[in-house]
Amino acid sequence: MAKRKLNRRQQWRIKKIQDEKAERAKRRESQAEQAMDSGALGSEQTGLIIAHYGQQIDVQACDDQGSALTDSPLHRCHVRANIDALVTGDRVVWRAGDDQSGVIEARLDRSSLLQRPDNFGQLKPVAANIDRIVVVVAVEPEPHANLIDRYLVAAETLDIQPTLLLNKADLINDDNRAELETMLDTYRELGYEVLLTTARHTTDDNSPLLEWLSHHTSVFVGQSGVGKSSLIRSILGDDSIRVGELSENTRKGTHTTTTARLFHLPAGGQLVDSPGIREFGLWHISDAELLEGFIEFRPFIGHCRFRDCQHEAEPGCAIREAFESGQVSAQRMHSYERIRSTLDDKETY
Ligand code: GDP
Ligand code: ZN
Repeated sequence: MAKRKLNRRQQWRIKKIQDEKAERAKRRESQAEQAMDSGALGSEQTGLIIAHYGQQIDVQACDDQGSALTDSPLHRCHVRANIDALVTGDRVVWRAGDDQSGVIEARLDRSSLLQRPDNFGQLKPVAANIDRIVVVVAVEPEPHANLIDRYLVAAETLDIQPTLLLNKADLINDDNRAELETMLDTYRELGYEVLLTTARHTTDDNSPLLEWLSHHTSVFVGQSGVGKSSLIRSILGDDSIRVGELSENTRKGTHTTTTARLFHLPAGGQLVDSPGIREFGLWHISDAELLEGFIEFRPFIGHCRFRDCQHEAEPGCAIREAFESGQVSAQRMHSYERIRSTLDDKETY
């Protein structure tokens, strides 16, 4: 879209609005600092970031073990200027103020960081301390191995354990069963967990999934149409609707739908979700990341005869030899080749 030239009056108005915003932000900061100085804040404690709205962050108190006190109220906190980017799922040191306010003083170490590219292709942090990336596939649309592998590689690149979830299991029939099982077996043999479910069932019937989720802090990712929204709705139950409504009304002007939010699940565990997270995975990766992302290739990497081996048809290629001796499956080898041939295209699928 061509940029419209602003006239002087418009420019003046925009500057005025920006100045006012800056002034307000400064005032808020100094109020928070004053509260800090006047001792109006509680003592330092551990907290969990539930959501992040621009300058403001919702924090929930944690117990001594660092687990969130799931019934305790959220505090809308300001951040000390000297802390680098905080994201949903971060654990922090904070002090509660009046009226469910607070100040974040420090960020604790992260066990993982989920990132995805912004509009300029730069990787940006979106959530911390995620321990499972649930790659959702479905009986329909038909799952393609190379797309699944693309997600797995992205997860492996971030060093977050991926798990495969086949949704719409109600659509499995005698025509598609064998093919699906063969494909899923490939992943089971690689050591990936594979779960089957259907969002059509009640939460009770979903309980093996809820049980599994209760042990983790997870995100759901995957192609559109596989049933991520349906699953998340059924997992969160009515709570998610209530939370959603609440945030729409009380947070006018903030883009709640694009913000990663942490949900405590009824049966335990946490789910972090945002539209951005659901689209995770299909960014530009390097040849080296692709190779490493195929976990069964790892023992062979660096053993090719030529240092600059392209793993195509070179003599002494350790990856090819692994494939020929049956240590790498045909499905995965083809998938690797297919993804590799698309790496130069900036666009992905
Ligand atoms: P998303 O794009 O991944 O969020 O997918 P949606 O949740 O929007 O679901 C896409 C379509 O699949 C919708 O029409 C759902 O009703 C349907 N769907 C979701 N889960 C299931 C399921 O377990 N079984 C069947 N048969 N349909 C499902
Ligand atoms: Zn090679």
